[in-house]
Amino acid sequence: MVSETKAMATLNLYLAKARGFCMGVERSISMAEKAREEIEETITILNEIVHNNSVVADLENKGISRTTNLDDVKEGTLIIAAHGVAPSVIKKAKDKGLNVIDSTCPLVKVIHKAVDYFINRNFTVLVHGDPNHDEMKGVKGRNPEKIHVIKEITKPEDLPDIDGKVALISQSTQSLELFEKAAELIKQKYNDVKIKNTICDATRKHQAAIIELAPKVNLVLVVGSQTSANSKRLVSISKKTGAETFLIDSADELEPEWFSGIENIGITAGASTPDHIVKKVVERIIRIALKNGIKKVNIYDGKED
Ligand code: SF4
Repeated sequence: MVSETKAMATLNLYLAKARGFCMGVERSISMAEKAREEIEETITILNEIVHNNSVVADLENKGISRTTNLDDVKEGTLIIAAHGVAPSVIKKAKDKGLNVIDSTCPLVKVIHKAVDYFINRNFTVLVHGDPNHDEMKGVKGRNPEKIHVIKEITKPEDLPDIDGKVALISQSTQSLELFEKAAELIKQKYNDVKIKNTICDATRKHQAAIIELAPKVNLVLVVGSQTSANSKRLVSISKKTGAETFLIDSADELEPEWFSGIENIGITAGASTPDHIVKKVVERIIRIALKNGIKKVNIYDGKED
């Protein structure tokens, strides 16, 4: 641990080498913005386009409304969010005469294809994920009878009794470590098992970056909304390394007392967090540090290494 005297002289901010917007999030937002430019009629997003409060508010300010209930949408264009929905939802929207723009992330569609593949071959599918998350509701909706979404698979009792073939896949933002543990348990419980890791590439890179960064700093800040599964996952992975870790939605949530006696801070951001929010977090930390008598703040951006 650094000495208090030295900590008062310099503050180092380390930005994770993989952080912030992923391909799927950028694609969904740009599809919504393009639709707004090209379509004059009403546009509604079903659920949150991505799980970030600032992004959701920004699109609302641009005149795109949002609902969690398809029955509320009577006309115009409906945008399916990055997390996807069940096929029945898209069918219902089309049957209502809505113009449907499907911005489901292609890597969520990989999960849909994997589920369909296994179901068509008479597997029961276990999905390691949060049943209350939009992505998992969409996956479960592909065949509710044959798909079990299980939040915790840490002991054999977490697993249902199933006759026949069983496949395990994962929510796109699942922890790699927890998924690998779940895979081991599933192999012990069932005779005929197939495992397909469907954690997306952005999630893997974000997680690997925080596993590398967190042990080197005194404090980790994860910038993301409470609704963001991947941001919360980064918090729990960081905490597991022993680093004190906070999830913040914006610079306003920073508490000056967190920085007392701290010399090294790691900063990462969830896949749905825009860069400008991270920038504001960095700017506010610098202001707090200078006010607290820190003479110099060094910024090391892992993306630039
Ligand atoms: S976190 Fe992964 S699955 Fe989710 S939108 Fe981003 S790239 Fe797609």
